[in-house]
Amino acid sequence: MNAQALRKPRISRLEEAQADLHARTQRSRKMAADRSEVINGAMAASGIAPPPIFIADNQGAHFTDLDGNSYLDTCMGFGVHVLGHRPKVVADAIKAQADKGWHFSLRGADQLAYAHRIQAASPTNQRVVLANTGTEATLYAIRAARALTGKTKIALFDISYHGAHDTALVWAAPGSTPEQVVPMTLGHGIPAAVTDDVLLLPYRHPLAIAAIRAQAHELAAILVEPVQGSNPEGDVGPFLAELRAVCDEFGIILIFDEVLTGFRLGYQGAQGKFGIAADISTYGKVAGGGLPIGVVAGKADLMATFGDFTAAKGIFFGGTFSGNPMSIAAGLAALSELQARPDIYAHVDRLTAKVTQGFNAHAEANNYPARIVSCGSMWQVFFQSEALSSFDYAGKEAEGAFYLHCLAQGLFIHATHRCFFSAAHTEADADFVLDVLSQSLAATREDGLI
Ligand code: PMP
Repeated sequence: MNAQALRKPRISRLEEAQADLHARTQRSRKMAADRSEVINGAMAASGIAPPPIFIADNQGAHFTDLDGNSYLDTCMGFGVHVLGHRPKVVADAIKAQADKGWHFSLRGADQLAYAHRIQAASPTNQRVVLANTGTEATLYAIRAARALTGKTKIALFDISYHGAHDTALVWAAPGSTPEQVVPMTLGHGIPAAVTDDVLLLPYRHPLAIAAIRAQAHELAAILVEPVQGSNPEGDVGPFLAELRAVCDEFGIILIFDEVLTGFRLGYQGAQGKFGIAADISTYGKVAGGGLPIGVVAGKADLMATFGDFTAAKGIFFGGTFSGNPMSIAAGLAALSELQARPDIYAHVDRLTAKVTQGFNAHAEANNYPARIVSCGSMWQVFFQSEALSSFDYAGKEAEGAFYLHCLAQGLFIHATHRCFFSAAHTEADADFVLDVLSQSLAATREDGLI
């Protein structure tokens, strides 16, 4: 080594990856700067922020950014695209519908066939109501439960996500413990009184069942993500069975928020996977085939509340775009394909199992404090075993560096760190994911961050 090389300061693997990404994403950076003067809102990344990236187009399991870089996508529209990006069956349905009209004020011809697809997702989906987003679906489900029971309190679990309306944004305050879950509202602008009508429970903890029993007479409903998007543990069957039993015992309405799990964990979502039916179910994401949708479905006697709001127990619901023909056409095409092709679920589950087992064996053998937790085709890397407990979910510097290395190698993992496989991902893509994840762990260790 010559003297000049010796004098050159060593740059870390992280700096190297940052410089590389910086050079390759100039158009995206300019777009970020221009947008920041007009458009508000950004999702925060934990630890070390990667350069912003804007998508020019996508196809299959990949997308291309404004600068022409290609990435393998694991975000898949926040879990929407089980069939991959732009599957032909959905693209054809969208084009055909565009030729017939994209917004009707009267009811469209395909809504009935679509409702039948929703009915097939659970034995209790006897009646169906259409909305535009998952947020609307859970809002209406909560309103329905309150109207039906005449009670106001809704039980929710910590680290759940049910959308952006007020009740859904009652979260556990930092420092909460299973013994004492302190509710707070996320962000400002939500009346503190909203917390009075929420019973916030520790997820999968015996104390949750005890609290439900103690306050059963006040509860209108229990709202639960059957598998949590932020914590995709697959062994939740016994917990869901306990919830079903306690709801049956006390006559509490059990709402499964299947916005993420519906048509992803199988055509029948979590209810099919674990063999437990909800009273009311909410859907979104996959159910719209890539266009916005929200669906509430449930037992006929409960769903009767969606009717005349002046009638006893009737609620108001609406929405200019509810059941719009484009979302229905795209959703009908996607659901028809998924219903006819159970092999798709076998495929995405197999890829997920391969990556989970491969990564966890590698991490264990090399003493990396990281593990993948997965269920079906939902998976996520967690950086410390404590992260798996509900009250201790914190990003770290190592995580930031790790994800930046993934990005620099062409693997896109969104800042929420939630990953999904699709029908468009191949065995070779799973091998690529495994390779990039282990290279990124090694680079992070080389910098002394792990
Ligand atoms: N419930 C769950 C379980 C979700 O994952 C989401 C979205 N991530 C929502 C509700 C809200 O859906 P939307 O973003 O369509 O309003």
